[in-house]
Amino acid sequence: MSKTRLTARPEIELSAAKMQRTKRLTKRERKDQSPGPKGQQQAHIHCIACGRHLDPQEFTANPPTAKQLICEHQSRFPACVDCDLLARQLIAEHDRTGKPVQQASAWH
Ligand SMILES: [Zn+2]
Ligand SMILES: [Zn+2]
Ligand SMILES: [Zn+2]
Repeated sequence: MSKTRLTARPEIELSAAKMQRTKRLTKRERKDQSPGPKGQQQAHIHCIACGRHLDPQEFTANPPTAKQLICEHQSRFPACVDCDLLARQLIAEHDRTGKPVQQASAWH
């Protein structure tokens, strides 16, 4: 009788230890992983007139809250819809002087 009890015990202990180990690993690995490799990082888009951060979805929303303005050299400049007038002035200035667009400093 005592012999059967002895063989049953180690099995239980083993499976319990196994479970603890897998639990610990998944919890840690998820948190520590930093987002994506270099190539996956997308450049931030900011309004050239006010510097506000623009999400890519803002250009495709209905109605859109951001738009791409194109200068005479076919360069694209992102801007809020609300900043349209100011952004156009900046681009016009750039096209007139040939200098880079004087973008507002980016903020979040
Ligand atoms: Zn803006
Ligand atoms: Zn940003
Ligand atoms: Zn231009």
